[in-house]
Amino acid sequence: MTKTQNNDPKNTLVMKFGGTSVGTSEAMEKTLKIIDSAKNEWKNVVVVTSALSGVTNWLLKGAAKSSQGEMQSIYQADSEIRQAHEKIADKLICDQIRRKQVKQEISHLISDFINLCQAIAVLGEATPRAIDAVSSLGERMSVRLLAAALEDKGVAAQVVESTQLIVTDNCFQNAHPDFKATGKITKQVLQPVFNSGKIPIITGFIGSTPDGIVTTLGRGGSDYSAGIIAAALQADEVWIWTDVDGVMSADPRRVPHAQTIPELTYKEVAELAYFGAKVLHPKTIRPIVEAGINLRICNTFNPDHPGTRLIPDNHNNSKGAIKAVTTIEGQKLITVEGRGMLGVPGVAARAFAAVASTGTSVPLITQASSEQSICFAVPMEAADGVISALEDTFENEIIKRDIDRIWATDEVVIITMVGAGMIRTPGIAGRIFSALGNKKVNVIAIAQGSSEVSISMVVSQADANEGLMALHELILGEHQ
Ligand code: ASP
Ligand code: MG
Repeated sequence: MTKTQNNDPKNTLVMKFGGTSVGTSEAMEKTLKIIDSAKNEWKNVVVVTSALSGVTNWLLKGAAKSSQGEMQSIYQADSEIRQAHEKIADKLICDQIRRKQVKQEISHLISDFINLCQAIAVLGEATPRAIDAVSSLGERMSVRLLAAALEDKGVAAQVVESTQLIVTDNCFQNAHPDFKATGKITKQVLQPVFNSGKIPIITGFIGSTPDGIVTTLGRGGSDYSAGIIAAALQADEVWIWTDVDGVMSADPRRVPHAQTIPELTYKEVAELAYFGAKVLHPKTIRPIVEAGINLRICNTFNPDHPGTRLIPDNHNNSKGAIKAVTTIEGQKLITVEGRGMLGVPGVAARAFAAVASTGTSVPLITQASSEQSICFAVPMEAADGVISALEDTFENEIIKRDIDRIWATDEVVIITMVGAGMIRTPGIAGRIFSALGNKKVNVIAIAQGSSEVSISMVVSQADANEGLMALHELILGEHQ
């Protein structure tokens, strides 16, 4: 992929590699090749990497179990994490001294993990700050391994910990970057690395507070790190390397004819990221849009495939109004209904405050204009707790019969169709409902996303697969 609009020399490319792109020696070998060839085409190449796949989970499990005094799982994590890194080092690093050194560095970080877990066990509590200290270790290991493997191939690389670059607030486990401070310091730290002809290999996922305490940007946050660093450097492109051919029109494990979507607008991809298809951390998009940087999602295991490109929201001239269909499984619909709700302000606010008090997030809401019921989806396992919280909140209304009933359905699935062209295309809703009707799939509730690029339908668990297939056929029909 090249930046050809005005024949600029290709300047700065940020490439982010996900956990599966560095998780085995075969995968990392492909990653090394990709980095090596990008270096020949771009003036500055920046690499951001996730932890090896599975490592962050092991670290987090270790921290959680230690807080309950179950130390056994730390030793299991120790051996799993050590083995994963050492296997790759043995395969990809020929130089014995270099191999020994990287193994030692990883061993040190594993000792840090054990020490932190022991401290957590003594306290009997894993604070968000302690969890960040633990979960940041995976990326701190992966950068060292990747940089050593590159050096071993003769590609000059330098480990950079993003605690040096990304300045955040102290909202541990979901820290928010200070873009201004980050922009300034990132340029300062990386420019000398570029000048020395080395490729910076940067930890994804982590940052630090102004006083140097490690934070993380949330699970899957390495994409966001790449976006933040690209914006700071005013990079030309960000390429997100993963293990599928870009964003697919449906989950290929469930829909055999799913195909890569060549172009998606920022709004469309945001809607997909929220709705179950975990293609890109949703926060990645903002810094990239604001800085006008191109983003591409591509496959480490099929690097010649063009993948998916993100395009500005007003450039959506690609074929087909509907781009993708995705599902959120394992939901229940909760309905609060009663004639006494009509025209009474504040019912919805109180209902959602009650839901929020249980720590549950709501992926879909609908209210009929008669105002006699509010209906929303919650994850199944949260349904009982949410109903009790609602019953407490509306105790008086229930006694007075202003609210007749608060109830949950059986398991349902939310099916969401995404495509910016849908609002401009008349008859789309009709086609969607005919497609479902033809397959005798009953639609329990409907909601249109406020970004106007999605329509969601709630169907029973038993109908979900049939519904998903029928709707995907509709997409294929449009693109023919
Ligand atoms: N390693 C972190 C996680 O598993 C961040 C990432 O992979 O993007 O959540
Ligand atoms: Mg990841």
